[in-house]
Order: sequence, then structure tokens, then C-alpha cells
Amino acid sequence: MQLLDFIEQSPTAFHAVKNAADLLKAAGAAYLPESQEWKVEPGKTYYTIRNASALIAFTVPEGAHAFRIFAAHADSPSFKLKENPELVTEGKYVRLNVERYGGMIYSTWLDRPLSVAGRVIVRRENGFATRLVNIDRDLLLIPNVAIHMNREANEGFKMNPQTDLLPLFGGIEAKDRFMKLIAAEAGVEEDQIIGHDLFLYPRGRGTVWGADNEFISAPRIDDLECAFAGLMGFLQAEKAKNISVLAIFDNEEVGSMSRQGAASTFLSDTLTRISEGLGDTKSAYFSRIAASYMISADNGHALHPNHPEKTDPSNRPVLNGGILLKYSANQRYTTDGVSAAVFKEICRKAEVPYQIFFNRSDMLGGGTLGNISLTQVPAMTADIGLAQLAMHSAYETAGAKDEAYMERFVKELFS
Ligand code: ZN
Repeated sequence: MQLLDFIEQSPTAFHAVKNAADLLKAAGAAYLPESQEWKVEPGKTYYTIRNASALIAFTVPEGAHAFRIFAAHADSPSFKLKENPELVTEGKYVRLNVERYGGMIYSTWLDRPLSVAGRVIVRRENGFATRLVNIDRDLLLIPNVAIHMNREANEGFKMNPQTDLLPLFGGIEAKDRFMKLIAAEAGVEEDQIIGHDLFLYPRGRGTVWGADNEFISAPRIDDLECAFAGLMGFLQAEKAKNISVLAIFDNEEVGSMSRQGAASTFLSDTLTRISEGLGDTKSAYFSRIAASYMISADNGHALHPNHPEKTDPSNRPVLNGGILLKYSANQRYTTDGVSAAVFKEICRKAEVPYQIFFNRSDMLGGGTLGNISLTQVPAMTADIGLAQLAMHSAYETAGAKDEAYMERFVKELFS
């Protein structure tokens, strides 16, 4: 599978996790539900899933001691459908009521075909079931106000998410039909849907472009690029000496504080269960963690062609320049001298280029999941990522070569 296909087929974290699970299953990995007791056998590959939106896969080689962990996230900034979503404008239009999920660049979501995807919870005779849905057609759009009616449009116009960012669903004939459409997609009646987590997503396939086809653009490159590369590298790894762990978290874009985010016990619970499965005492588990190494992989900013002044003066990462090693003295990134040295040695062995990322000293930059995860699993960690432009735009841009560098790095990390 190629990155742009994976992104297109993963409009939400639920879909990304389902697609990752399918690839793992096809490669022979066994599913361990969190709700059951686990038997972990050396030499096998397993995966587990929490909330249908976060996944951890692992391989336990014979005699392995330490964990090697690669973590990324599958969620992206979007708009989430509220309950009772339909809103009628003057008896003429049907719009949908949504709230922000994460920090997107508003303007990029306007005047572009959108649709809706996520999961619905369906009532069954005994209990209920979850269905993934994706209305796979151009369905919605958030129209701009004409420049003639808003002369400030190009002067830093401030958008209000409750009024300016609601998508149009149809003419008045569309009234009372949105949830019916979702139900039909799920193959059930509307009154069977008793819960939902539905998100807007930008339509359109990613594209390869530039004078030498050196760039890619697509929605959700942050962080599906790292998640996909992590998965591919995990599947390609051979002759591992350590316990390989691939973690794909949800909710990074909203601070990771959820049952399935990096701040949760998902990773520590899974590592504990692996260690118990291997017959460890608690002390043996801690000794494994102390010997472990973790990579937190989330995209970072490339030098911007129109705004080179936004980048740190002495570290100038570019698209296609290799993997970013991210530093922050305030520990927004976990990298230190030791974890950096380990990272550089893995790059050297894998023959993968890397470049250094710092925020400008007068700019805060974004956080990520490494330092959050550390509060649960205190393994030595480095923060890395791939360089991109327009982070949190509905349509982001990255280097066409970089994803392959990350795959090679992950393969070496796990080999
Ligand atoms: Zn990210």
C-alpha cells in the first residue's frame, strides 16, 4: 500500500486503525482484545486496539529483553458533528452544526468539497454494535462570503466557528435526511443509531507535484505520514533482538488526555501485559523499561519558501532532507544528548539522512506525544518527525522522498 492510498482510505482515526489492523492481520499478526486475558508467545506478532481509534502492535522475539517503541498519532484537526446536527437557514438551506476538533487553519476548509466519516453505534437485539461509516462522495461545503460582501476578507478577517464554519448540506428538501443518509450508509434504520462520532473530512486524493515530482500534498499528512511509515517499517523488520512495539495513538490534536491518547495507560498497560505474559516480576518489568528506547514521531515544520524568517537561524530543515530530530530545552520534545546519539546511530546504519529541528527561541511551537507518553512509560525517548509545510491546513505538503526514509529508519529501529 502507498502513503496516499492509506491517507485517502483513512478519513478518521477509526479508519486509520482499521486499515492498520487489516495490514497487520494480513501479515499474520494475531488480535488480542483488551477485554480478554492474554497469552503472549515469543516469536509471534500481535496487536491490540482501544476505542477503535488507537492501536498497539508488538513482536516478541525469543529471549528479547528491552522494548523498542515507535509512536505516532492517527487523528487530525477536523470538525465534529454535534447531536441534532441539522440547522435550517430561513427555510431555504440545511446546514450542519459542528464543533472544532483540534487547531486547524480555518480558511483552508472553505470552498472545498467535504464529506463525513466516523463511527455509529447501532442498537441490536442484545446490546449494540459499532459500524464505521464514510459517505464516499462530495457531500458538504463551507462557502466563503463574497469579497463584495466582506471587504475585510483579505485583511486578517476573524472567523467565528459557530457562524462562519458550518457546512452546507442541501436545499430545504434535505431537511431531516442527514441522519437517514448516515443510517443507510451503516445499513440500519435511523432510529437504530444510538450514538455517533462523526467528523468532516476534505475530499480529494493526494497528489504528487513539483518540477521533478518532489512534493506530495494531501489532507492529514500530520501525522498519517509517520503512522504509515511506522507501520510499514514494523512489517518489514527482520531478526529483531528487542521487543518491537508500534503505537498509534488518538487525540494528540486535543492534548492526548483521553482513554486512547498518549497520556492514557494504553501503552503502559500493553507493555505490562507483555511482560506478565513473559513471566516477569514487577522489578523485571521496570528493568525492561529502563533498558528501552522510544521514538515519538510527529511531523515538524520545513523551511517555508515565502517565510524563511519563521525558521530557527542555524537549523534549517527542508522537504526531502531526511528525518527531523526535534529538540526543545523546555522538554516539549524529549530528545536529549543520549537519545539523539542513539537516533543518529540508527540513521547511520539505515543510511538515512536526518536534519535538526528547533523552534525559533522567540516562538513556542506545538507540543506532541513524546513527553506526554513519558509520564506513563519512562523509557529513553527521542522526538522525531518528517518535514512538512502548512501543518494543520486541510491540505498539507511534504517531501515525496521522506516517507521512505522514515520506513527505512523504522525497519532498522526494529531489526
Ligand atoms: Zn501531529
